[in-house]
Amino acid sequence: MNAVNLLDFDLDGLAAYCEQLGEKRFRATQLFRWIHQKGATSFDEMSDLAKSLRAKLQGTAHISGLPVISEHVSADGTIKWLFDVGGGNAVESVFIPEDDRGTLCVSSQAGCAVGCRFCSTGHQGFSRNLSTGEILAQLWFAEHSLRKRFNTSERIISNVVMMGMGEPLQNYSALVPALKAMLDDHGYGLSRRRVTVSTSGVVPMIERLQRDCPVALAVSLHAPTDPLRDELVPINRKYPIDELLSACQAYLTAAPRDFITFEYCMLDGVNDTDAHADALVALVKGRIHCKFNLIPFNPFPQSGLKRSGMARVQAFARRLADAGIVTTVRKTRGDDIDAACGQLAGEVQDRTNAPSRMLRQPVMIKLAPSDTFTPPDRSGR
Ligand code: SF4
Repeated sequence: MNAVNLLDFDLDGLAAYCEQLGEKRFRATQLFRWIHQKGATSFDEMSDLAKSLRAKLQGTAHISGLPVISEHVSADGTIKWLFDVGGGNAVESVFIPEDDRGTLCVSSQAGCAVGCRFCSTGHQGFSRNLSTGEILAQLWFAEHSLRKRFNTSERIISNVVMMGMGEPLQNYSALVPALKAMLDDHGYGLSRRRVTVSTSGVVPMIERLQRDCPVALAVSLHAPTDPLRDELVPINRKYPIDELLSACQAYLTAAPRDFITFEYCMLDGVNDTDAHADALVALVKGRIHCKFNLIPFNPFPQSGLKRSGMARVQAFARRLADAGIVTTVRKTRGDDIDAACGQLAGEVQDRTNAPSRMLRQPVMIKLAPSDTFTPPDRSGR
């Protein structure tokens, strides 16, 4: 029997595994805490587990993270890791520290099949889905290596965003147990509002996520009309905007106080005019509780696209805000370590001679904190 990597389980999965070994659920809970809360890598250090159980685990299981290819630390504190996932592929995680939070951006696939026009990963193709263990290993490694770095036993990562490489909802069966481990009080104990899944709009899976694990949802919108979105986000041809927005509305019925975050990559002359802003307002106003994140595009050679000027971005943001929609414009972080995605791909090619499958367009990864445009107060005035 092949040894099992215990990072591949949420708590229910680990309990089922322990049951196969003839052990009760509370043993799984102990084990889960050792792995995720204490960062244990060997069974010997799990001092409150019976010796007999430790002996059983030695022969059948292991706790194995991903090999780290590189680590870069920015002057602003942003840290970027590149992990080897085998077969010449690597995925990236980025830690973004801020005054009141520590956010980890996590990858879900090596490459991506969606093929968004403004995304370098989309241009480079799809290699494979990550396993639950490979998704969780990014958080497990980041959390425990940061604790050592900062010499603390306190939790460092307060927020996780599934916004690295890949479309998380096209890797649903691996994603959900990973999310559950992030939320589990015996795991990372993150609140569901602090775990965000970002999707290009895989409508049936949005519906399933609401039932299975309703964390915060971000949607890569990028266009207000179907013809334009068909071009920029090809999955729109299968799940057009109206269907997508209906799925977003339904998602919020489980938690009406929540909102959807719409990501909008600002592309010069393509989707950034006042008319586009007005069309966005008409789409969402009165229909969906939402906010917009406007994201400066990081150009890469094959895209044929240009970044909108900052004055245009600000004017666009102001137009949305004037219509009552909270809007943020993201600022870059980690510039000095090339935390933008396409920049990292070349580095990996040099090391592994692998095809450039790494790293999606920089959406969200290196961008924070934000300028926020708050809608004007129109109450009674
Ligand atoms: S933006 Fe996201 S969904 Fe689109 S190609 Fe890039 S990684 Fe895939």
